[in-house]
Amino acid sequence: MPSIYINGQLVPKEDAKISVYDHGLLYGDGVFEGIRVYGGKVFLHQEHTDRLYESARAIRLEIPLTKDQMQAAVEQTVKANNLQDGYVRLVVTRGAGSLGLDIRRTSQPQVIIIADTITMYPKQVYEDGLRLVTASTIRNHSQALSPRIKSLNYLNNIMAKIEGTDQGCEEALMLNHKGEVAECTGDNVFIVYRGVLKTPSPESGILEGLTRNAVLKLARDAGIPIYEGPLTRHDIYVADECFLTGTAAEVIAVTSLDGRKIGDGKPGPITRQLLDLFRKLTRA
Ligand code: PMP
Repeated sequence: MPSIYINGQLVPKEDAKISVYDHGLLYGDGVFEGIRVYGGKVFLHQEHTDRLYESARAIRLEIPLTKDQMQAAVEQTVKANNLQDGYVRLVVTRGAGSLGLDIRRTSQPQVIIIADTITMYPKQVYEDGLRLVTASTIRNHSQALSPRIKSLNYLNNIMAKIEGTDQGCEEALMLNHKGEVAECTGDNVFIVYRGVLKTPSPESGILEGLTRNAVLKLARDAGIPIYEGPLTRHDIYVADECFLTGTAAEVIAVTSLDGRKIGDGKPGPITRQLLDLFRKLTRA
């Protein structure tokens, strides 16, 4: 039975409750992180903590713990659940308020830490690659809500995901308001074109994924040339390889977009090299 951390206490799953007046529930008013645990160690713990606090700062949410206290709480929850390999969902909501939007009426932000196992894509999908379609729902316009904030507002990503699954695809490609490639609903996107590894930069309106950043570092260290900047769907259609990165998915090949085969329709050599390097990094 998993123990959930909620406001300084570890409680059984069925007792982990928050108010129905919480702005996290009423308005998606809050921030979160998804974090991997490999071999009992919290992966990229500092980076996830930093991103959580930046997301919170951006939405003017004051987290009632210091970063050190938050990291200790995550470690404590992982230990209490005997988690060797798994996934931590860290959520901070605005807290219970009135039925209006005014955050001055909210009280204590709620800190929730869930440490559990995770279902990844089946092994076969890592061998065969994913098929993608482009969603008509675009990523958040950065003038509306910066995609760099990992907020509890995922509704347009959910709508895009529905578009994907309706068409038999596990993921969907989301564009930005300019029609450029942004990212998938829960993963960043990369291509390989003539030996260069290419991915949209944060200016394209993406969540700056920590797996993305780790993979870019692995590629840099392996001497693979890198381009970070605007990409169009055409770039993906004509790419030699394509793959996605994310905490849950890790590194996963994409073999078609909108019915166009990418490269030879199989996971490419640089994708496989980076997946290998990533697995070595996380399972060292
Ligand atoms: N983009 C979006 C929209 C995401 O929600 C996520 C995380 N699930 C990512 C990219 C990947 O980020 P990370 O590698 O930090 O998990």
